[in-house]
Amino acid sequence: MAKIIIIGNGIAGSTAARHIRKISDHEITMISGETEYPFSRTALMYIYMGHLKFDHTKLYEDWFWAKNRIQTKKAWVKHVDTSEKSILLENGDKLQYDKLIIATGSTSNKFVWPGQDLEGVQGLYHLQDLESMEAATQKGIKRAVIIGGGLIGIEMAEMFHSRHIPVTMLVREESFWNVVLPKEESAMVNQHILANGIDLRLSEELLEIKGQDGKASCVVCKNSGEEIACDFVGLTVGVSPNIDFIKESGLVIHRGIVVNEYLQTSVEEVYALGDCVELSAPNPGRRPVEAVWYTGRIMGQTVAKTICGEPTKYNPGIWFNSAKFFDIEYQVYGDIPAKTPENITSLYWQHPTENKAIRINFETLTGAGTGFNLMGIRYRHVVCEKWIADKIHIETVIENLSLANFDPEFFEQYEGAFADMYNQNTGKALTLKSKRKLGLVEKFLFG
Ligand SMILES: Cc1cc2nc3c(=O)[nH]c(=O)nc-3n(C[C@H](O)[C@H](O)[C@H](O)COP(=O)(O)OP(=O)(O)OC[C@H]3O[C@@H](n4cnc5c(N)ncnc54)[C@H](O)[C@@H]3O)c2cc1C
Repeated sequence: MAKIIIIGNGIAGSTAARHIRKISDHEITMISGETEYPFSRTALMYIYMGHLKFDHTKLYEDWFWAKNRIQTKKAWVKHVDTSEKSILLENGDKLQYDKLIIATGSTSNKFVWPGQDLEGVQGLYHLQDLESMEAATQKGIKRAVIIGGGLIGIEMAEMFHSRHIPVTMLVREESFWNVVLPKEESAMVNQHILANGIDLRLSEELLEIKGQDGKASCVVCKNSGEEIACDFVGLTVGVSPNIDFIKESGLVIHRGIVVNEYLQTSVEEVYALGDCVELSAPNPGRRPVEAVWYTGRIMGQTVAKTICGEPTKYNPGIWFNSAKFFDIEYQVYGDIPAKTPENITSLYWQHPTENKAIRINFETLTGAGTGFNLMGIRYRHVVCEKWIADKIHIETVIENLSLANFDPEFFEQYEGAFADMYNQNTGKALTLKSKRKLGLVEKFLFG
């Protein structure tokens, strides 16, 4: 029986703990400085908005961990000594391990803006960030300025908006998140942000944050030179692997902790998972650092097998992500680059009046579907994944689109419109096949 220490109890670390327990009797200790028990980071915004209490975001009831003989510890790890296989906690305690899993997640990026350390300036990543946002709100915020046009920035804007706090967003790009979203979807989000009363400033950057009595009092815009009075500044300019405290541990580290396909680091018996890792050889089309929830979960399951004697390669499958831009739900399956490559055809349909859109990309030469972007419409993950993995022809995809749709009441309208658009563009006469029924979906998937 090995002594396993897991640093970090996020989705990556906690999934590893659960799966190691499922298949072994190893002694497991899971440590985090943030909270004693795992919670859903993606639900942080709903606590601030009053939809959930913190307890509702916990992944399991508190008793679950002890019952499954997973020891939890709320502590910050200060140092990892891989030569003597020990970790040092901030309170001075030293713990020995046989196998170590590092799953320490991300940390909010900061650059070198004057004033970034003033009171009232912060990112949103940890529970403690949420607590300080709440404390600032209780004291009174007349205006919040959010720097950065990404997924966390727009969540922060929605959070303040829900508490009737005026928000300005400074976004460096000329359109929201246009490094990821194609032009049309990005434009839809711009309009939706403005429609929610957010003062969205595109093509604008932060020059400095000015303060009074140690607190943020205004931001200075780099391009216009305008000073915007505010008492809260949200720095949401991306995240980076949270690895500072590991830098002296002897592990090979670049942007993140470098791991091979088995999630092994450069030191034997030390593994790393989740946001904090950099894959030395990612699958084609995938990035070496991917800070998303589901990859952390897959890594947790994968490493558990390897550690328990069944060496298993990490395979994240087809890329997928989902988010929410105020009221617009967004899903992406497969590859939808912001700019369509030459060998790809991109079919885009947008509802004439509502914030709903469907984009399907396919290889021009072969017709094989390569990706789906959905705005305001939900498609089934398993169906889209299978179509992409099996390189299903675009026309078969269109004829069977109803299999992918989640909303049986409305599917005919949108999928029909998508098929009509295709027919008009190509002179074809495709028709949608049978209405979606769960039985049909299962038959399609499992034969
Ligand atoms: C506001 C917000 C919204 C998000 N929404 C989405 C979304 O909609 N979809 C999506 O896919 N992803 C989303 N993400 C990203 C997603 O939450 C992360 O990819 C995921 O939580 C990473 O999991 P992890 O287990 O790798 O790390 P984490 O969840 O960061 O867990 C790491 C843990 O390790 C602890 N730790 C770090 N250093 C130490 C140390 N020295 N000692 C002890 N403990 C330490 C940390 O405190 C933390 O508890 C969101 C992130 C944020 C912040």
